[in-house]
Amino acid sequence: MAETASPAWTATVLTLYPEMFPGPLGTSLAGRALEAGTWAMDVHNIREHAHDRHRTVDDTPAGGGPGMVMRADVLAEAIDAVADGPGPLVYLTPRGVPLSQGLVREMAAGPGVRFVCGRFEGLDERLFATRPGLEVSLGDFVLSGGEMAALTVMDACVRLLPGVMGADASGDEESFENGLLEYPHYTRPQEFNGMEIPAVLTSGHHEKVRAWRLAEAERITRERRPDLWAAYVARTAGARDVRPELDH
Ligand code: SAH
Repeated sequence: MAETASPAWTATVLTLYPEMFPGPLGTSLAGRALEAGTWAMDVHNIREHAHDRHRTVDDTPAGGGPGMVMRADVLAEAIDAVADGPGPLVYLTPRGVPLSQGLVREMAAGPGVRFVCGRFEGLDERLFATRPGLEVSLGDFVLSGGEMAALTVMDACVRLLPGVMGADASGDEESFENGLLEYPHYTRPQEFNGMEIPAVLTSGHHEKVRAWRLAEAERITRERRPDLWAAYVARTAGARDVRPELDH
């Protein structure tokens, strides 16, 4: 493949498990883009920055309690080693800002992201103070490590990079891009288990198709995500006044 003009979007990863990368991102859409040089992965083993005989990266929590905590000195050295790497420093942690499509877009628009993957009970708090970064969470649940979270963020970013998705526009109408969940999809066969594809979709009337899809996206969002729906209604109040029947 031809070299891309600008340097490829680069995911720098600090982890205790480098063998987990690229993992699933080595296949399919992301894998092909990785091979083509549209993006790059730069994986570092945190353990290489441990200097004692046993290459210790963790220790018992001050104050007692279960589990182990990742040492500030070891991790700080690992972070400093990639200080000049492209993009913001991102800590994956359940206490971070929830990942959103807006944040993904911001991260994808930059030169890359430097991910710090936690393990055990998490990181020594002094890291966040001395090596400031954006703390990002995948949601209100606990993973066993930051690696799957980093892979997930990367996947969401990579598919937005120019040329990765088949049609560049195909991201625009997706869930969350306009504050709504996506409308339902159908494809062949025309009839399945006694159900037909909605007639409007095969009518050839692009304007009617567009209106049907918007109405469906609104219905699904209203039914499933009152939080998104409230924000959407507030934002589109003026425009939606002409269609008051969709409000309930
Ligand atoms: N004791 C911590 C959980 C540690 S889980 C707590 O109660 O908050 C171990 C590591 O997995 C974390 O350091 C973090 O890097 C990662 N992790 C776990 N859940 C995550 C989530 N929801 N989002 C992002 N990273 C997460």
